[in-house]
Amino acid sequence: MSFQSPKGTKDVLPEEQPYWERVETAARRIARLYGYERIDLPVFEDTGLYKRGVGAGTDIVEKEMYTFEDKGGSSITLRPEFTAGVMRAYLENGLASRPKPVKVWSIGPVFRYERPQAGRFRQHTQFNVEAIGESDPALDFEIMSVAFHLYEELGFRDLSFQINSIGCPKCRPAYLEKLSGYFSSRKADLCSDCGQRLVRNPLRLLDCKNPACQAGIAAAPAISDSLCGECESHFRTLRSFLDDRKRPVTVNHRLVRGLDYYTKTVFEVWAEGIGSQNAVCGGGRYDGLAEAIGGPATPGVGFASGIERIVLTLKQQAAADQAPSRPRPAVYFAHLGAEAGRQAVALAAECRAAGIETVMGFGERSLKAQMREANTRGAVRVAVIGESEIAARVVQLKSMEDGGQSSVPWAELTAILKAGEAGA
Ligand SMILES: [Zn+2]
Ligand SMILES: [Zn+2]
Repeated sequence: MSFQSPKGTKDVLPEEQPYWERVETAARRIARLYGYERIDLPVFEDTGLYKRGVGAGTDIVEKEMYTFEDKGGSSITLRPEFTAGVMRAYLENGLASRPKPVKVWSIGPVFRYERPQAGRFRQHTQFNVEAIGESDPALDFEIMSVAFHLYEELGFRDLSFQINSIGCPKCRPAYLEKLSGYFSSRKADLCSDCGQRLVRNPLRLLDCKNPACQAGIAAAPAISDSLCGECESHFRTLRSFLDDRKRPVTVNHRLVRGLDYYTKTVFEVWAEGIGSQNAVCGGGRYDGLAEAIGGPATPGVGFASGIERIVLTLKQQAAADQAPSRPRPAVYFAHLGAEAGRQAVALAAECRAAGIETVMGFGERSLKAQMREANTRGAVRVAVIGESEIAARVVQLKSMEDGGQSSVPWAELTAILKAGEAGA
């Protein structure tokens, strides 16, 4: 019997890790540049948090959550997104007493039972950024800038924003009524999913990808004509910030995002090269979330970006010579004979204690086989120890780059390797 990784999951093997490291390093740097601090949360929460926070009628809650009863009889859900958990932590830990906005970021796995497709997994990793406690559109602009700056830093081409305002509890109900009226008269032309959305969440109709629904969606009333004064002015100010910075922006009336907690701003960043799934991040404002999960009214704005999707884009957009390379050990110890093997263990320990990245051969193998291994591992130098080297208390230090070789006393080895590292 053999096992495979569960459907929709992915092993990230060592050769792919340099991409991940590049993304994570850039994400940390950019978050810090904008004054965001790290927060880590449990990967599972009380199921009720998502039902009330994300919304009971959403695809995430209805179809996609990994929910189970634990041995104590509590209903637990693996987090399908970060924002509800961040708000829960904000309320629970009294972060509201800190200077606002409270600005935090996380990296970690989220879990959604989705149909697997390119760059989308049932367990995937998100870089998540949130700013809580402030409704100023300058903060929406800042959050969007964090995302945009990250992708610029990673060298993505053809970046642009898709933005929309989906209103607030004051102006959205009237728009939803207008939208329901519009689609009700076209019910016969809608796909079966949209038939249900019409009853439960007409806004999501705008999101439908079914070809049958496209003509109706294109002619549907736009929410921009129904925004209240506050939402309209918020959206106008945000757009002026984006225009001032000359960011490519498309106002997309169909952009609604699949989560109930969004208010006012919703946005995505699109990049070249990931086909129909060309959003590298999505986010927005969620001024109603804190109340939905039992807290006081608290505005907030944030975004999430899937690392797998970023890595995919990085691979597609980056030239081959820009591909990040695996780390190269500074030295590989090759040894012949039992005594030499013992000495290799001792010298490798000395090198590591001196901070030199060191690997060695194991078992009893020919020098040729060990050289081959050193080459595969990308070692910069090979230190060879045999009987005569033991007698003379030296190693033969061979450069894998130019083939140059010299006899180096054990006592001088770490100093020479360190000097070589500095010179490399
Ligand atoms: Zn409004
Ligand atoms: Zn549809």
